[in-house]
Amino acid sequence: MNRPQRVLISGAGISGLTTAYWLDRYGFRVTVIEKAPAPRPGGHALDVRGPGLEVAARMGLLGTLHDRSTKLTGISMVDADGQEIFRSTESTLTGGQLDSPDVEIMRDDLCQILHEALDDRIELVFGDSVTALTQDENGVDVTFATGAPRRFDLVIGADGVGSGARQIAFGPHERFVHAFGTVYVATFSMPNFLDLDRWEVLYQQEDPYLGAMVMGLDRDAAARAYLGFGAPEAVDYDLRDIDAQKRLLADRLAGAGWEIPRIVDHMLTAGDFHFYSLSQVRMDAWSRGRITLTGDAGYAVSLGTGQATTVAMTGAYVLAGELAAHRDDLAAGLAAYESALRDYVIRNQEIALEQDSKPQNDGLPDYGSLTLPFTLKAYS
Ligand SMILES: Cc1cc2nc3c(=O)[nH]c(=O)nc-3n(C[C@H](O)[C@H](O)[C@H](O)COP(=O)(O)OP(=O)(O)OC[C@H]3O[C@@H](n4cnc5c(N)ncnc54)[C@H](O)[C@@H]3O)c2cc1C
Repeated sequence: MNRPQRVLISGAGISGLTTAYWLDRYGFRVTVIEKAPAPRPGGHALDVRGPGLEVAARMGLLGTLHDRSTKLTGISMVDADGQEIFRSTESTLTGGQLDSPDVEIMRDDLCQILHEALDDRIELVFGDSVTALTQDENGVDVTFATGAPRRFDLVIGADGVGSGARQIAFGPHERFVHAFGTVYVATFSMPNFLDLDRWEVLYQQEDPYLGAMVMGLDRDAAARAYLGFGAPEAVDYDLRDIDAQKRLLADRLAGAGWEIPRIVDHMLTAGDFHFYSLSQVRMDAWSRGRITLTGDAGYAVSLGTGQATTVAMTGAYVLAGELAAHRDDLAAGLAAYESALRDYVIRNQEIALEQDSKPQNDGLPDYGSLTLPFTLKAYS
């Protein structure tokens, strides 16, 4: 295949923006198309660890990541009446050990940092998405929901677990998205009515298994809430229907203790709601001709082990690097991407499954011990 120059990336999340950064550095002409009308607010604390920190360092962003990190100082667990029953100032539920080298950062902050690092050097289109991809020997014809049709040399799906690019080029979600746990969690912003300052509060109920966690980073700013429930059987829900997801949560959490009724009320009006189940994306191949996938779209590991962002940043770095290293042979570049990364991804997915099958214990997670090493090549 000829030398790829014009690259379309679907999705301006962590993997899309990181891939765009490196491809631009290597001299490709990059367009990123994002379905949301503007940079997506909200989301919760993500963790950058191990090789993810090294990718950030090579982008010159490690200092900024540390500056904008959550800087949480601890967690309280409360009972149904709001009385504290446990506290830690060494670890939190979202970030693990506070003295680890890892960076915990809010998703919207990390996206903003990556966006700023691109410094308008690429074409970034919000509020549009790919509707059809037709490839031939020399390129891919792309049609969009609103924009005019265009032709690219390579299309990269970086559009998350529910990837539209994957559905168009590889087939229906059900073939690749595997729910493996029976825990469902939503995240959204709400007023900081608990008056939290760099602190998180957790309430859990055993039977039925459900809970809420609220994280406040600044008394004067919105808090971020997590609401979740466990289910004995996998619950079928529409990946794209937010109202139905909100109704599902409100039903499951009806009658729960602590501040859950108030938090549910805020959830119903939240504009930055995001719903997850424990699921992985597993595919035999991440590329088909001139279309490839990166991050959650191709190999989501699940949120249970706190490695999704690290895997996404590592994958983006390797994809862009191998494309640059095989500039005159796209097929060889995509094959090298896959062979460099696949074992690392599979091992991360295995660890997530092992963690899920372990009995629940009361301890706070040690995510650092679940972080796998990955040697990043120097590409030029
Ligand atoms: C709003 C939001 C909040 C999140 N909050 C958390 C969290 O609190 N904790 C956690 O562990 N993980 C969270 N995640 C997931 C986490 O960001 C990812 O697991 C990880 O960072 C890997 O990122 P990714 O870029 O591969 O995928 P994602 O972060 O899912 O990014 C995919 C991007 O593609 C866009 N997109 C989706 N479909 C299309 C389409 N058809 N066309 C164009 N663009 C499309 C999405 O709007 C998004 O910007 C969140 C994701 C999102 C989108």
